[in-house]
Amino acid sequence: MARILIIEDNPENLELMRFLLQASGHETISARNGEQGLACVARDAPDLIVCDIQMPVLDGFGVVRRLRSLEDRKETPCVAVTALAMPEDRRRALAGGFDGYISKPIEPERFVEELERYLGPRSAPATTPPARNGES
Ligand code: MN
Repeated sequence: MARILIIEDNPENLELMRFLLQASGHETISARNGEQGLACVARDAPDLIVCDIQMPVLDGFGVVRRLRSLEDRKETPCVAVTALAMPEDRRRALAGGFDGYISKPIEPERFVEELERYLGPRSAPATTPPARNGES
């Protein structure tokens, strides 16, 4: 059993993911935008984050960028769940710091199994994030 943070602004999607994860015995925490999500990361120390990309206030790319800058939480696995489903979107998500990518609509019979692959220590990213200015 893991503690999983779901960051998603669509109530139906949020409820479906929460239902599926809880039915598999996981503890869930819910946030409706990126700012709320980051507050939950700091407070609740989730084992895994599931994160929508298109959200008000702070989108998924903003979440993962800030997550990776947190000294004590930066290793938390973070998986994008998004309707942006083109190959280029997948590449951008991985380059942006996400550990994985699940496209919407989610498949209820596979969702939990797919997510559980990301539990545990972060594996090597599929693509190397681009170097940022000022960083070696
Ligand atoms: Mn959204």
